[in-house]
Amino acid sequence: MEAWRRQLDEPAAAFRIAKAGPAHVATLKTFEPPLSALEGRRFEGARRRAKRLWFPTDDGELVLLVHLMTAGRLRYLLPAEKGPKTPALQLVFEGGARLVLTEAGSKKRAGVWLLTPDALEEELAHLGPEALGIGTDALAAICEQESRRLHSLLRDQRVIAGIGRAWANEILHHARLSPYALSKDLSRTDVDRLAEAIDVELERGLELRERGANDTRTYRVHTKLGEPCYVCGAPIARVDFEEHTIYYCPDCQTGGRVLKDRRLSRLLR
Ligand SMILES: [Zn+2]
Repeated sequence: MEAWRRQLDEPAAAFRIAKAGPAHVATLKTFEPPLSALEGRRFEGARRRAKRLWFPTDDGELVLLVHLMTAGRLRYLLPAEKGPKTPALQLVFEGGARLVLTEAGSKKRAGVWLLTPDALEEELAHLGPEALGIGTDALAAICEQESRRLHSLLRDQRVIAGIGRAWANEILHHARLSPYALSKDLSRTDVDRLAEAIDVELERGLELRERGANDTRTYRVHTKLGEPCYVCGAPIARVDFEEHTIYYCPDCQTGGRVLKDRRLSRLLR
């Protein structure tokens, strides 16, 4: 996400917005003020906290907030560049450049909100501390608060902001911790390793994204079922947990144990 923000910061502020829209009905989450209220205004740049990106207008009155979820992509297209036929959101700048949100697949999960700065603040107040650079002490305090399975805890944006399901897989593998381990059971050394893994993996992701690497090159564990673990060579395993699929190395993370399916649908039966 930080890589997106850096890429968009300058171009988003370069020109006034000539035409705001269209936006997909499932993507635009707010109606008042209308999207057209952006027309004639200029963004100050791109800001970010955790997985939310936002663009404040330079008059201080409006903020366009974007949450890409897993499949959303936000691109700045030059006047001559071809764009998608049906973007989830499009803003056309004076001079013809465009800011375009697309979402792969049929499920529309990415969201766009047009807010006042006060409403944005309210929205962000529910986010936990930023994952990158969290450090051992803050992480230890979080792990102590309630006993949660690590994969689920890392993905909870109210607890730690900025880690999605893919990076939860990469981070837990790097820390050699089981995705099902309970946060309260971690030793101080485990927490040290987890804090370090968060920084190393998120930094690695950021660097690769900035160099334009795709998902296949970026992830080493996530979606690598059956491929050799980059540390020990054992095949990567997969298990369904809540509404997510977890990828892990049984040798590095669970002492050779195969994790059991804990899908919500199965637990509720
Ligand atoms: Zn391994």
